[in-house]
Amino acid sequence: MDSQGAPPPSVWAICRNWAEALAADAGQLLFPAACIICGVELPSSHGGDRLATRLCPGCRLDLCGDGARCDRCGERGPGGENCPGCRQLTRRLRVDEPPWRRLVVLGGYTDRLRDAVLRAKRPAGEDLAEVLAMLLAERHEAFAAMACDAVVPIPMHWRRRLVRGTNAAGVLAGQLARLLRVPRKNALSRKRFTPPQRSLPAASRPGNVAGSFCRRGRRLPGHRVLLVDDVVTTGATLAAASRVLVESGVSVVYAAAIARAESSDDCGQGDRFP
Ligand SMILES: [Zn+2]
Ligand SMILES: [Zn+2]
Repeated sequence: MDSQGAPPPSVWAICRNWAEALAADAGQLLFPAACIICGVELPSSHGGDRLATRLCPGCRLDLCGDGARCDRCGERGPGGENCPGCRQLTRRLRVDEPPWRRLVVLGGYTDRLRDAVLRAKRPAGEDLAEVLAMLLAERHEAFAAMACDAVVPIPMHWRRRLVRGTNAAGVLAGQLARLLRVPRKNALSRKRFTPPQRSLPAASRPGNVAGSFCRRGRRLPGHRVLLVDDVVTTGATLAAASRVLVESGVSVVYAAAIARAESSDDCGQGDRFP
């Protein structure tokens, strides 16, 4: 975050970062790190670049940066007033404009990024989810412009959480909040269990999640909130959650996700979890 939007780091945060860097260096000496994606051994010298201790340069390049994307709908292209992705999104959600002010994504839900997201969503995928959040947090300018005062994950219904063992959106939100130096607030709950969005046609997805979220806790999470999910496809889930936040009194909702799937993609292929 920029100096205007984020509070200065506390002494505790500075000490913690310093201790973590020291521990990482010591660990690297004892156990040479391997790329979390391809397993190749990583060099011991990383010049203070924390991501270089988790990812090799080749995988890092593959996972981020597949070209310019609209900063409102996340689809490929320059964006702007006539963005076809935005038009399709608003038509599908039956709204005049996207319910969030900005959407930051790493890339499209294809190839190695898709594989990485699917791994991160599975049990024991937390480490990879944290690395993906670190990659996302490198979009410094976008997050600085948002100047958010809280990060809120898309919640998972307890029944699904029981089966999966992890909520990737929660891990992503936690790591992003830490890197952006703002609090993570679990400000939303799932009111009811819904079929997975990917199991439904695009047209049915808004109805599936409509009214499925509710506010959690009585305190406002913040005025400028960053809503975090792992994958955005039709935008129906983000829209339903955004609506609850705005109705709760949040002034501006921003959104971030690891990947943006085309709504025609089979985003559930290969994911055997409900
Ligand atoms: Zn690699
Ligand atoms: Zn757009």
